[in-house]
Amino acid sequence: MSDLRELYQEVILDHNKHPRNFGEIEGADRHADGYNPLCGDRLAVYLNLDGERITDVAFLGSGCAISKASASLMTDAIKGRTVAEARALFGRFHAMITDDADAPPPEGVGKLAVLAGVRDYPTRVKCASLAWHTLRAACDDLHEPVTTE
Ligand code: ZN
Repeated sequence: MSDLRELYQEVILDHNKHPRNFGEIEGADRHADGYNPLCGDRLAVYLNLDGERITDVAFLGSGCAISKASASLMTDAIKGRTVAEARALFGRFHAMITDDADAPPPEGVGKLAVLAGVRDYPTRVKCASLAWHTLRAACDDLHEPVTTE
């Protein structure tokens, strides 16, 4: 199990160092800002939509490795999905990172399972969920910045 943990760690570090879909989408259909005051993580999420489908997604921000890796993994996971699918994935992801430590990752979380270890560190749950809260605000077209508090 500890070997597996190390592997997960490597994926997280890789996404932190080389975040996918990192940048701003000029003239994005939707955009929202998120802030996690507990850790100081700040993120902006940009979306382009074709009807209900997320055709493009990107993020910008500065924060800890977990917040950045989670945002990077999220953009990979939701590109091409519908808004409803992205919301459902957030539900499964949130369940995974707040489950008790012995529960296996829920089905259908795919690569996001690398963040399951976060549930052992309650203060990092907000780091891992910030990108998703910000995504939800972008989907809802909220213009107020969201915080994890
Ligand atoms: Zn953080």
